[in-house]
Amino acid sequence: MDRESLEVDVLIVGGGPAGMAAALRLAQLQKEKGGEPLAIAVLEKAREAGAHMLSGAVLDPSALRDLVPDFKEKGAPLATEVHRDAVYFLTRGRKFKFPITPPPFANHGNYVISLNRFVKWLGGLVEAEGIDIFTGFSATDILFEQQGKDAAVIGIRTGDRGIGRHGEKKSTFEPGVDIRAKVTILCDGVRGNVTKSLVRQLGLDDGRLPQTYAIGIKELWEVPKDRVAPGSVTHTLGYPLKMEEFGGGFIYAMPEGLLSIGFVSGLDYRDPMFDPHVVFQHFKRHPFVASLLEGGQMVRYGAKALPEGGWHTIPRLYSTGVLIAGDAGAFVNSIRLKGIHLAMRTGMLAAETAFDAIRAGDVSAAALKAYEDRINAGPVRRELYPVRNVHQSFGHGMLAGVGYSGLSLVTGGWWLRDPMPAHGGWERMETFAEYYSEGRPDPDAPANPVKIDRQLTFDRLTNVHYSGTRHAEDQPSHLVVHDTDICRTRCREEYGNPCTRFCPANVYEMVDAGDGTRKLQINASNCVHCKTCDIMDPYQIIDWMPPEGGGGPQYEGM
Ligand SMILES: Cc1cc2nc3c(=O)[nH]c(=O)nc-3n(C[C@H](O)[C@H](O)[C@H](O)COP(=O)(O)OP(=O)(O)OC[C@H]3O[C@@H](n4cnc5c(N)ncnc54)[C@H](O)[C@@H]3O)c2cc1C
Ligand code: SF4
Repeated sequence: MDRESLEVDVLIVGGGPAGMAAALRLAQLQKEKGGEPLAIAVLEKAREAGAHMLSGAVLDPSALRDLVPDFKEKGAPLATEVHRDAVYFLTRGRKFKFPITPPPFANHGNYVISLNRFVKWLGGLVEAEGIDIFTGFSATDILFEQQGKDAAVIGIRTGDRGIGRHGEKKSTFEPGVDIRAKVTILCDGVRGNVTKSLVRQLGLDDGRLPQTYAIGIKELWEVPKDRVAPGSVTHTLGYPLKMEEFGGGFIYAMPEGLLSIGFVSGLDYRDPMFDPHVVFQHFKRHPFVASLLEGGQMVRYGAKALPEGGWHTIPRLYSTGVLIAGDAGAFVNSIRLKGIHLAMRTGMLAAETAFDAIRAGDVSAAALKAYEDRINAGPVRRELYPVRNVHQSFGHGMLAGVGYSGLSLVTGGWWLRDPMPAHGGWERMETFAEYYSEGRPDPDAPANPVKIDRQLTFDRLTNVHYSGTRHAEDQPSHLVVHDTDICRTRCREEYGNPCTRFCPANVYEMVDAGDGTRKLQINASNCVHCKTCDIMDPYQIIDWMPPEGGGGPQYEGM
C-alpha cells in the first residue's frame, strides 16, 4: 500500500499539558542554543487543541512559572486564585470539617482553571513558535527499526481514514501516514494506547508495581453568583463510598457562579456492582452538595481516568528513540489530586533530553536515560518519592490509607516493605460468588439505585449529551472487545457485566439477543474517551483504540 511519510526531528504524540509544554520548551531551546532548526510536530487526536481535556482543576503553577515566566502578561486563562480550602468527611446526611487542612489539600498560591481552556492557550503559544499541531490525527502504531526488547522507535503511524463500519474501504479511504522522528515523545495521557503498546512490547514495566487508576466524573454547574466565593476549593472523603473504597469529591468555585464539581472513584474496588456514575449522583444528593447546587443548572459533563499508583508504578521512561511524559508515565500525585504541573515538568525535561540527544547525534537508550536522571535530580522526585506508598496503603481501606498518609508526612514515605505490595486495580474486583455470598444481585438493576430527576441527578445518556461527544457513525467500533462470547457467558455469570456500570457514557449495553439470552451492544459513538473500560475489564479483553477523524468529546470549560 502506498503510504505518505513525513520526517521530523521530534514528534510529540498528544497535545495535553505534557505535550504542549514539551513543544514550547523545544522552541525555547532552539532560540537559546541556535544551530540548525529542528522540525517539531505535535499530533493530537481531538479536532482542536484542548477539546479532549478534562481535569478538576486546581493548577500548581510551579512548572508554568518556569516555562512561561510572564504567563499573566501572556493572558494565561487562570479563572481565579485559590482563597479558601476546606476538607470534609461526609456521612449519609452530615458533614464534618477537618479542623486543619491536611498539607496535601492546601492550595494557597494555586489557581482554579479549566484545563481545556488552558491547553488551548498553550497550543496558541506553541503555534506562535511555528510548530505544527496536527489536530484530528491519532497515532495508532509505533514504528520500530527492529523487533525485540531493544527495538529502536523511529516514529509512529497514524490511523487509516475512510473505513466503513464493517471494515470495508470507502471511496474516501486514505491510508495512515508514517511520521518518522529521531525522537518520539509520548504524551498520550492516561492509559495512552501508544504508551500501553510500547510498555508491553519493550517490557518497560518489568520490576515495577502494577498500575492502579481512578475514574473522575465531573459536571460544570452555573449556580447563583453569591452562592460560593470564587477561589473556594472543597474536597470530601467518605460518603457515598464504603470504607473499603478509595476516592472523594471535589468542588471548585470560579467567578460568575461557575462550579466545577466531580467525584473520583478508585478503579480498584472489590464490589462488581460498583457504579461510579451512580456514586456521583449520590454525592450530588448529599444535603451539603445539593444545597450548593440548588436552583443551579448543569451545563457540561465529562469523565476521565487518572493514574493513581505513584512513584513505584512509573515505567522505564526511555528507550532508543522514545521518551514518555505526563500521565502516560503515571506522573500524578494522587493524594494532592494533581498532575498538570508534573505533566508539564516531565514534558519540559523530555524536551531538554531530546534536544541534547539530537544535537549530539545520539538518540540511543543510553543517551536518553539522561531524562530519568533529570527527573531524579529535581522537583518531580522530590514531590512523588515521599508519597510513594500512599496510594497502596489505601488498598487496606480508607482508615489505613488516611493514617498512613499522615504518617508519611513525617517519615518521608518509609514503610517496612518498600514498595508496599499492591495488585493491579482490575484484579481486585471480586466475582458475585465471592462478594455476594448471600445471594446474587440482578446485574441489570443498580445495586444502589438513585432517583434521576434531570435537575440534580442525570442518567448517563442525558449526561453524554452535555459532553458534546460526536463520532462519525460509519466507522468500525474503536472499542475492540476481543471475545464478545465471554460477555454473554462467563462475564454475565461471574461479574454481571460490570462494563455496563463502570462506563460513564452508556457505551456498553446487554440487550435482548432474541433467544431469551442477552448479548453485548457497543454504542461506540457515546464514548467520552475516559479509558475506564480498557483499564477495568476483569478479563482484560477490551482495547480502546483512537477513532477516526477527531471524534470524541467536545469539552468546553472543563
Ligand atoms: C477528574 C480529574 C480531576 C483532576 N484534577 C486535577 C487538578 O485539580 N489538578 C491537577 O494538577 N491535576 C488534576 N488532574 C490530573 C490532570 O488532569 C492530568 O494529570 C493531566 O491532564 C495530564 O496531562 P497529560 O498531558 O499527561 O495528559 P492528558 O491531559 O490526558 O493529555 C493527553 C492528550 O493526548 C491526546 N492523545 C491521546 N492518545 C492519542 C493518540 N493516540 N494520538 C494523538 N493524540 C492522543 C489526548 O486527546 C489528549 O489531548 C485531574 C484528572 C482528572 C481525571
Ligand atoms: S467506552 Fe470505555 S473509554 Fe469510552 S466512555 Fe465508556 S469506559 Fe470510557
